[in-house]
Amino acid sequence: MNLNCDAALDLITLYLDGALSASTRAAVREHLRSCPACRRHYQQYAHTAKLAVRKPEPVKNIDLTDGYGTLSRKLKKQHSLRVGFLAGCAFVTLAAVAVSFLRGKKGRFGG
Ligand SMILES: [Zn+2]
Repeated sequence: MNLNCDAALDLITLYLDGALSASTRAAVREHLRSCPACRRHYQQYAHTAKLAVRKPEPVKNIDLTDGYGTLSRKLKKQHSLRVGFLAGCAFVTLAAVAVSFLRGKKGRFGG
């Protein structure tokens, strides 16, 4: 199977996803080997895809030697920090909305 550049570029994302049949995959690979322009596109796609699906940081050093109570306390602390951060973000957003609302009101009613 010979692919032209348009077909190869259309198939690059499917190629990266592993969604192509073996023969189509081989045709794309062959085209990328022989076509520097498409190979460059492929490398950019691959780089972007790698960034987009970066895995979340794994939880490290889970250790139950101190007992489950310690782990549980650590997880609860982490959770409350996250909730606190989200609450802080919500508060800042609400404050910004309230300030702009009050300013608008003041302007409209000549205050
Ligand atoms: Zn090409």
